Amino acid sequence: MIGRFAPSPTGPLHAGSLVAALASWLDVRACGPQARWLVRIEDADTERCHSGMGEAILQQLAACGLLPDEPPVWQTQRTAFYETALSQLQQAGLAYPCGCSRKDIDEALARRGVVHTRHGERVYPGTCRDGLHGKKARAWRFAATRFQGEADALTWTDRRLGPQQQDVAREVGDFVLRRADGPWAYQLAVVVDDAQQGITDVVRGQDLADNTARQVLLQRALGLPTPHYLHTPLVLGADGSKLSKQNGAAAIDTRSPEAAQAELSAAARVLGLHGDERGAWVAQWRSLYPSTR
Ligand code: GLU
Repeated sequence: MIGRFAPSPTGPLHAGSLVAALASWLDVRACGPQARWLVRIEDADTERCHSGMGEAILQQLAACGLLPDEPPVWQTQRTAFYETALSQLQQAGLAYPCGCSRKDIDEALARRGVVHTRHGERVYPGTCRDGLHGKKARAWRFAATRFQGEADALTWTDRRLGPQQQDVAREVGDFVLRRADGPWAYQLAVVVDDAQQGITDVVRGQDLADNTARQVLLQRALGLPTPHYLHTPLVLGADGSKLSKQNGAAAIDTRSPEAAQAELSAAARVLGLHGDERGAWVAQWRSLYPSTR
């Protein structure tokens, strides 16, 4: 059993990301001494990352006593793996270049009379599926529509949220794997890394649950195994919205061991665990979120 915590270095660890870190750590410790907990710094989308933030996150984790069982890996050092996966998809006819700007996509959607956005994101209308139409490539897209074919919605089971489903082709469309100017998309990098690192159990924040169907589809297209998934409860800010680095959530306080312990105990309570002691949390975790293997 191998679990992981995969923070993006876009800001320091905050109360919400500590919940995901602690949960993935507990899930591994609950599996016994052979299980391993890995940390991967997800800096593939270089534009959103801040220099020095990966190291800062590792220090925050260490201050909380969350130490990875292997040296952390950084996505920017792993681009060869992503290149290989992209060319595998290209050769299988499952990745194609796209020359559409946001404006092109909006116009194509408007022509069809569909207001086809989802969480403010555009559902790609498939304009470049049959060629670039003389445009310059801006991105590589996964041919989700072609791969999924006439299949129904993709289904998967979350260890906490239960059965889930999403018709990726219709609800998301052909999503981006890489932008032409370089950065690798989260979806491709995370699928390649989880498989290459042998991750068997993904534990992460519930805000990411919606990406899982896309990732399962990519795993199938690449012939990779699908890990077990568990999405943890989110920490809400004072205004009721999800606490995130983007809305300036405060860094956890690790200035003293007592402060770090208080942060950990708060994270444990979000997970429905009681007390202040890790050994007790591990035991509670086992009964609250039993392994499905
Ligand atoms: N890097 C992502 C984030 O910090 C998490 C990815 C994952 O756990 O799959 O939001």
